[in-house]
Amino acid sequence: MGVKSGVGGTDLLRVTLRSLTGRPFAEDVADVVTWLRGLDGCPSINDAVPAVCRAASHGEDPGTWFYVEADPAEGVARLRCLSCGGVHPILDSAERWTYPPAWSCQNCRQSIAEVVFGLHEEASAVTWAALAVRCVDCGNLDGVADFVVPSLYPSAFVPGA
Ligand SMILES: [Zn+2]
Ligand SMILES: [Zn+2]
Repeated sequence: MGVKSGVGGTDLLRVTLRSLTGRPFAEDVADVVTWLRGLDGCPSINDAVPAVCRAASHGEDPGTWFYVEADPAEGVARLRCLSCGGVHPILDSAERWTYPPAWSCQNCRQSIAEVVFGLHEEASAVTWAALAVRCVDCGNLDGVADFVVPSLYPSAFVPGA
């Protein structure tokens, strides 16, 4: 089981997690992966994949900063690419959209995040996913929604909330 951190060459063993005011903080996407894998009370995270926007306008440099709207109770979420404005609904979220407020950092209040999906896999199939965000300004980590895959109505569970 490899970790697809999307930051090739990063040594996950050298990751340092800082803790300020009792909340987890991360230096980069690899730290988010480490945090996801350490969560208790949820399916084990076998894999983690950062979200990127590959709209043609980005060329060779995909977008990695997003505005995040998520409703953990209904299990819907979408990402809006900061750079190109492209909207990425998660799974069937567009069909069940509940107009949740945009995520903002509980520490510094700004709203731009890097996004990592933690994936629980059984027999190589993803059966559960957790949506984690990292504040691009202060590094604060948050779990904003999770999804039973492919159930339409996952039970509400928000890692780290
Ligand atoms: Zn984009
Ligand atoms: Zn912040």
